[in-house]
Amino acid sequence: MAASQTVISDEIHRADQPIASVRVLSCGRAEQHREHRYGSRLPQLLWVFFGRSWVPLPLQCFLIEHRDGLVLFDTGIDPAIMSDKGYIKQAIGRFLLPRIFRFKVAATDRIDHVLAKEGVTASDIRMAVISHLHFDHVGGIAQIPRASLLVSAREWSILSEPHPEYEWILREHIEIPSAKWRQISFGPTDDPLFEGFDGVDDVAGDGSMILLPTPGHTRGSMSMLIRQEGWDPILLVGDLTYETSLLEQDIVPGTGDRDALLASFAKVRRLKERLPGLAIVASHDFAAEGAVSRATHHTSQTEEG
Ligand SMILES: [Zn+2]
Repeated sequence: MAASQTVISDEIHRADQPIASVRVLSCGRAEQHREHRYGSRLPQLLWVFFGRSWVPLPLQCFLIEHRDGLVLFDTGIDPAIMSDKGYIKQAIGRFLLPRIFRFKVAATDRIDHVLAKEGVTASDIRMAVISHLHFDHVGGIAQIPRASLLVSAREWSILSEPHPEYEWILREHIEIPSAKWRQISFGPTDDPLFEGFDGVDDVAGDGSMILLPTPGHTRGSMSMLIRQEGWDPILLVGDLTYETSLLEQDIVPGTGDRDALLASFAKVRRLKERLPGLAIVASHDFAAEGAVSRATHHTSQTEEG
């Protein structure tokens, strides 16, 4: 990454620490079935069509102010999904989506508007780590054309399967001309901290942002460990769980590969045993903001402006 000129944090960059701030960005809200979030013994199609209990969820992504440049972890949803009847090409997808999610997304929830509220120009984003390719995590990639987009090679391989759209991976919104995708193949590590994980990738080469494979929600889902002196470590887990407490109690959601989810949960809990104080932060958890603030010792909301 080249050095960025944009400085958004009013904190002084400590010369010896690579990251100045981690911010939780709100990219709209939605509702999902209770069975979707908290799991169910019922078959998925049953609760999709007959479930009557909807629970709210935030759509969030994360902005990391690294000294080499601004990094996003996921990019939110494209509000065009609300207005553009053809956003999802396949009729089955258009039929099913409102039965799975009720979106409450405004035009101002697009990533460039969300970043503007933080004082950041979208084209200044140097890198986006994409936890997985679901449409509500890649919806902002068109707005950040200068960013390299990091995705796991395993996740990317889903695009060459016959029907990625059946898994809510929409090729036409991923393989866009401006997108600079970079596939991550996790490399081996001797660090006992990461024992059990199928490799790691050190994004900036300084140990401050480490990618870890955490499959289950999708086959190529990954998490990012943020670590530096003076902060509690933070693990951004994307959609591995919808709430940190569910992962801690081994409660799997209503979708995804149950065995793979449980295996990833166990690895994350083991990581937490080795990294006491680890804040496990899920994208659709209302507790994300508080957890990130505590980990970075922000006792109150950082003043904007
Ligand atoms: Zn997802």
